[in-house]
Amino acid sequence: MQEISSSQEAIQLESKYGAHNYHPLPVVLSRGEGVYLWDVEGKKYFDFLSAYSAVNQGHCHPRIKEALIEQAGTLTLTSRAFYNDVLGPYEKYITDYFGFDKVLPMNTGVEAVETAIKIARKWGYEKKGVPGQQAKIVVAEDNFHGRTTTVISFSNDENARRNFGPYTPGFIRIPYNDLTALKAALTNNPDIVGFLIEPIQGEAGVNTPDAAYIREAKKLCQEHNTLLLADEIQTGIGRTGSLLAVCGECRCEGHCEKQESYVEPDILILGKALSGGFFPVSAVLANETIMEVIHPGQHGSTFGGNPLGAKIAMTALEVVRDERLAQNARALGKTFRERMQLLAEKSPLVKLVRGRGLLNAIVINDSPESSTAWDICLALKDNGLLAKPTHGNIIRFAPPLVMTMEELHSCCDIIEKTILAFEKPAENE
Ligand SMILES: *Cc1c(COP(=O)(O)O)cnc(C)c1O
Repeated sequence: MQEISSSQEAIQLESKYGAHNYHPLPVVLSRGEGVYLWDVEGKKYFDFLSAYSAVNQGHCHPRIKEALIEQAGTLTLTSRAFYNDVLGPYEKYITDYFGFDKVLPMNTGVEAVETAIKIARKWGYEKKGVPGQQAKIVVAEDNFHGRTTTVISFSNDENARRNFGPYTPGFIRIPYNDLTALKAALTNNPDIVGFLIEPIQGEAGVNTPDAAYIREAKKLCQEHNTLLLADEIQTGIGRTGSLLAVCGECRCEGHCEKQESYVEPDILILGKALSGGFFPVSAVLANETIMEVIHPGQHGSTFGGNPLGAKIAMTALEVVRDERLAQNARALGKTFRERMQLLAEKSPLVKLVRGRGLLNAIVINDSPESSTAWDICLALKDNGLLAKPTHGNIIRFAPPLVMTMEELHSCCDIIEKTILAFEKPAENE
């Protein structure tokens, strides 16, 4: 392997030999620990993206690392042609943890979304009695559920869709946070088998719906014998200040099912932080009456449920509970939004701040086509903090949940200093 001696060199290699399917911020990282990242030149940064919320537990968490090393030297993959001695304990652990009867293990987030769609459709035909080939799933505008052909088929992001057709049929898109539209769709179409929804839209710019949205959506789904499919790949596992975003404003320690504010999805989709960023691990959770539609040979994955991933996921979930990361995210998030609110009052560049727990965003006061958010992220990088713009002129702020209050205040100082000093570059530059 060619040794990398400068950031420029690494960027050139990626540019020359890699497909150009991403547009990264120009920083080349070579080490991570907790809330910190270091680049090739040794400059230290606060991570305010957490790999899109995959490293909620912080970079290279020592406990997860130990579990990985131990399992990597014991047994990594058997395929599901045979049993292995970690999968069963993991399945018991994760179903207890989230309060469901059953889990179906997969690897990446989008595979879990695909799995949930397949289960909902099969449930629709076999349990609800929808006529063959007629099943419909309702989705929201500005959704992000991943990148497969089917999943981009129901996206309205032209960049994600254009020239990838023909598209998979069977999806109805309605506005987000619009219960009237959901009710109309369900009333007009008896073949709807599921409502696939992000409790907060992460990629769309931390689009946070009304407090009652998911609760009322669940009621409508129940009334129309339709499944609620919650995509908590980004919002779940402590990120929004509770174990899951569907826990709402709960104050529990992880046993959500008895809490007042908890809305139980029929199908729960998890990924990202399920492995603390060590390995792709995703999962679909549901109760027996739904999961029982899947029989041997009907769905699977060579790596899904592998002992290495299972061990890592179990440990990653233990860390979230033992270190009270949801509770920490709740406390830090409140302070973060208060500080950003103060900044919004001082700076005409910050239009508003929104989010829950440590999934937050600021909306920049400029046209969505301008590069202001990108330029602010470059300035933040120079000042030692890494964040990335999302759609339009929005900057998402999602640090690892292991951050301390003191570190959070240092980060707010950096953001404040950077934005107050920021000058819009001249158009002709
Ligand atoms: C990241 C994400 C996905 C896709 O996960 P991958 O592991 O990238 O396939 C799906 N849904 C949501 C809400 C996400 O944030």
